[in-house]
Amino acid sequence: MIIDSSTDLYGIFGHPIKHSYSPAMHNAAFNKLNLNCVYLAFDIPPENLEFAVESIKQLSVKGINVTIPHKQQIMNYLDEISDEARYTGAVNTIKNTQGRLYGHNTDVGGFLKALEIELGVSEFTEMSAVLIGAGGAARAVLSALCIKGIRSINIFNRTVEKASNLSEYFSSKFDNVSIDYYDLNDNSMLEKSLGSSQIVINSSSAGMAGHDALNIPLDKLEQSSYVYDLVYNPRNTELVKKALSLGHRAASGLGMLLYQGAESFQIWTGQNAPVEVMQDAMGNNS
Ligand code: NAP
Repeated sequence: MIIDSSTDLYGIFGHPIKHSYSPAMHNAAFNKLNLNCVYLAFDIPPENLEFAVESIKQLSVKGINVTIPHKQQIMNYLDEISDEARYTGAVNTIKNTQGRLYGHNTDVGGFLKALEIELGVSEFTEMSAVLIGAGGAARAVLSALCIKGIRSINIFNRTVEKASNLSEYFSSKFDNVSIDYYDLNDNSMLEKSLGSSQIVINSSSAGMAGHDALNIPLDKLEQSSYVYDLVYNPRNTELVKKALSLGHRAASGLGMLLYQGAESFQIWTGQNAPVEVMQDAMGNNS
């Protein structure tokens, strides 16, 4: 890669950010398509976020990904926000078009693409879901499942108030989907919900490297039910291992990470992302 005075700059804002696979993924894609672009990771603490967004304009940065903990706060500083990002309530991709900053959410599409490619699931209307977690990632999952017209979603979270807020927010936007919420420690409700769900999604940080594993009674699930874990570090989470050992179709979050990145790349460059190259780059980055 030759960097010169015409090189376009892209990057990611997060805090912390050192774990990110995105620079490896996007730089590999730029190289593959011979684009004179480079992608860097920027560690931006919350108190500097507004200033950092202003610098996108000042430095003519072409595009930025946004990750924990900025996906919601950053919406306050953008010029326009896509419909999808607005009703998700989170932005993970910014495109700078002649000094105007457009916010998008590609986690929604990335999640759906991963379910389609890795689990073979693309039809949700007859499904009920159990969703663990009520943070930023849960918003993208709720948005995706509601758009697809899923029948019902039971959200389980440690902090019930957060699950209640999400349930209220998405119920007001999608009145055709029944969205309830429960305490993650309510074992009997969890067992009952798992027994009547066709898909279980972990959007909590439980199971991430450095966190406790998520311990839920997967044996209550019907054999034909699917399990998707948004956690991608470690690549094979305990939840996914257990689900596979019980005979379920299951995958961890690397696929979602890949496909959200591919969609961001497409938004920025107008070109189809070289998905296999991006996937290989994530492998080489581990
Ligand atoms: P967040 O906004 O900080 O929310 C974290 C959620 O996890 C909250 O609901 C929290 O519950 C719950 N939680 C944390 N530790 C827990 C534990 N030990 N047991 C049970 N619940 C626990 O984070 P986020 O942005 O939603 O991200 C959550 C996970 O999704 C992370 O692992 C992240 O890497 C992953 N993710 C993956 C992708 C992908 O592309 N695959 C995209 C986005 C996020 P409380 O509300 O009770 O604190």
